[in-house]
Amino acid sequence: MADKQQLQVSGLELSKWRDAAISAAVSANVSITEVDWLLQEIAELDRLTLRTGSFKDRSEIQLKLPLQKLSTLWQRRLTESLPVQYITKVAPWRHFDIKVSHDVLIPRPETESLIDLAIAATADNLMMRQGHWADLGTGSGIIALGLADTFSDAKIHAVDFSAEALSMARLNADNCGLRNRIKFYQGSWWEPLDSLKGKFSGMVSNPPYIPTSTLPELQPEVFKHEPHLALDGGNDGLECIRHLVETSSDYLKPGGIWLIEMMMGQADRVMEMLRDRGSYSKIEIHSDLAGIERFALAYRS
Ligand code: GLN
Repeated sequence: MADKQQLQVSGLELSKWRDAAISAAVSANVSITEVDWLLQEIAELDRLTLRTGSFKDRSEIQLKLPLQKLSTLWQRRLTESLPVQYITKVAPWRHFDIKVSHDVLIPRPETESLIDLAIAATADNLMMRQGHWADLGTGSGIIALGLADTFSDAKIHAVDFSAEALSMARLNADNCGLRNRIKFYQGSWWEPLDSLKGKFSGMVSNPPYIPTSTLPELQPEVFKHEPHLALDGGNDGLECIRHLVETSSDYLKPGGIWLIEMMMGQADRVMEMLRDRGSYSKIEIHSDLAGIERFALAYRS
């Protein structure tokens, strides 16, 4: 643990550190905005203060990490593609500050839309906002948190195969004041929820969907640092989604919502799987803000 002294720097020292970090980012072809993301969190300075340099005159700035350690980590950002969020250990998602570690995927902005889609899908049938909802493959817990926050009368069940991810999800639920709204289970997909078969109002998931053979083509930030368990969707990338199509019809009640995130290019096959299963109706594909067909929604017949 760093002593207090090491965690205090002068504004001038921090400003020099920032200038050096920016030059190093330019040389490494990394976006210089990442320096300020890092400092916003580590030095608790806002964007404007950092941009205008008005912190330079301060005699003392409190850091969350000693400057030397920060230098080492920034070096790893540049040379090993370590994502900044794994340095700050936090990422924003909807209005939450989500704690992250190497055991969980860094929350993505596009995943925020899953919650809006769940809201829209229940707008004509408000009863569905109550009862049981499942977040399968909860990772850092974001979907469960989004659902608990939005559907205040629902009981949220969050499942993950990784015990380490579940600890992170529990911590996030505590930090967001939603711990008593969510039950956590270690296990595979629906398995731990066997006793609630046929009772679910909804299932929302951002499952692993990258084909195993294309994992190495992902950005190095993702491939080298994020958990492969959360990314690897098997041979064709659709193994987990296929499993969710097949099993969810036993768990959802009639009218219950099936909602997932997927990869560009998977929409047609996911739609076909849902049709072939014969137990879903009103199948819809929705795009993300970049216009990519990213979400599949269906209702249990
Ligand atoms: N539900 C989490 C998220 O959306 C984790 C997803 C995953 O691990 N595939 O970020």
